[in-house]
Amino acid sequence: MNDPASIIGNFERSHWSQVSEPALPWPVLEGPHETEVVIIGSGFTGLSTALHLLEAGKQVTVIEAQQPGFGASGRNNGQVIPTLTRLDPDMMISQYQGAGERLADLVRDSAGMLFDLVRKHGLQAEAEQSGWIQPAHTPGRIKLSEQRFKQWEKRGAPVRMLDRADVERLTGSPIWHGGFMNDSGGHINPLAFARSMAARVKQLGGVIFARSPAQTMQYQNGFWHVQTPKGSVKAHGLLLASHSYTDAFAPDLMPDLAREVVPVLSWQMATEPLGESQRAAIIPARQAVSDTHGDLYFMRYDARHQLVTGGALVIPYRGHERLRGRIGDRLMRIFPQLPSVRFTAVWNGYIGMTSDYAPRIHRLGPNGYGWVGCNGRGVALSTALGGEFAKALAGEPLDRLALPLSEIKPLPFHGVIRRLAPVMLLDYRRRDLTEIS
Ligand SMILES: Cc1cc2nc3c(=O)[nH]c(=O)nc-3n(C[C@H](O)[C@H](O)[C@H](O)COP(=O)(O)OP(=O)(O)OC[C@H]3O[C@@H](n4cnc5c(N)ncnc54)[C@H](O)[C@@H]3O)c2cc1C
Repeated sequence: MNDPASIIGNFERSHWSQVSEPALPWPVLEGPHETEVVIIGSGFTGLSTALHLLEAGKQVTVIEAQQPGFGASGRNNGQVIPTLTRLDPDMMISQYQGAGERLADLVRDSAGMLFDLVRKHGLQAEAEQSGWIQPAHTPGRIKLSEQRFKQWEKRGAPVRMLDRADVERLTGSPIWHGGFMNDSGGHINPLAFARSMAARVKQLGGVIFARSPAQTMQYQNGFWHVQTPKGSVKAHGLLLASHSYTDAFAPDLMPDLAREVVPVLSWQMATEPLGESQRAAIIPARQAVSDTHGDLYFMRYDARHQLVTGGALVIPYRGHERLRGRIGDRLMRIFPQLPSVRFTAVWNGYIGMTSDYAPRIHRLGPNGYGWVGCNGRGVALSTALGGEFAKALAGEPLDRLALPLSEIKPLPFHGVIRRLAPVMLLDYRRRDLTEIS
């Protein structure tokens, strides 16, 4: 992962880099700088926190190693999904009690909060609140859909069960057996969302420095001190929002936090625009779709009617070429209406995975917070957590917030696990072929 050239190359070749408005010319941090809250990392977590703090009247400075949206936020599939990967409400509550109740409510409302933020600030995010569908890829997985549906329905989420015919009508695909849907979900152009949030932060008086990797951070004499190659920031509060990219530019920034997650490479691809008749047959109401496979099947339209999809590889060697054939064939199997598939872009990014698929949210010291472990469901979650971090940094009591705090626990043998992680895909594929009872 510590190969900035490949990380940068993949960012630049992404579909979102090709179709979004260019980044603003952000300055580099030079010399000493003082503020109320310093935020390290300008993905959805950092930018949403900054936006919420500015709304609360706080001074904010964001320090970014590259440019806003450079990490997972600017390269993801843009599916706005109001659930976590595995942790459903009952598990959140049994694991975190009161904070779990609040987290379940936050996740329930997270997609709505993102789309509300877009509307409130007039963000240019190609946002479509068209709903999110999770189809079941085997008959047995319908039980999983039912469990999830019941738990979210009990908490008041706008969910509904779908039978086989419903899913075929909504997606145009005969491969799924049913599933469930949440009407508050949808999709965005994630890089445009990040860049537009950054522009809004600036408009509201926030300060953003780019190409300024934080090298060290420490709490001393009542202040946080963050050092970059050419400057420093002193602040009362700090948020570390560098997520799966924490050790990409500064291995010594917070190694224990970086070792809590295994960064797993996820590949994304955009097809050529689909014609009108194909769009009328394939996901005609333009929901975001991601199914129950461990080796996930996922897709959504962008504003140019390109299907943005992707997949995973055990061995990344020549991934950009190998995936074109493999995922093209998969798409044609899922949607027999497609006689052929051509891709205009293939790129990748790192997802922060934890062993139990639960996020890790931490207090890093006096008025200092951070988190990792989105497990591939962080578009809505990181944006919503931004609101909670802002409240914490503004002094709101932690027992009112949806922040289930835990101690930092680095994974033993992290280096080995990280190298072996792609092989886990073989196990996912084996399980995908096995029916659950
Ligand atoms: C390929 C891919 C597809 C995904 N698809 C989806 C999806 O469809 N739906 C969904 O819900 N989730 C998805 N996710 C997850 C989602 O993108 C993330 O959870 C979310 O973007 C995390 O945002 P963040 O701000 O916490 O982290 P990031 O966006 O990763 O931001 C971290 C930032 O910190 C910066 N940084 C790192 N080190 C330093 C330093 N030393 N100093 C300063 N800055 C630093 C990085 O450059 C980066 O900009 C996907 C992730 C990937 C990688």
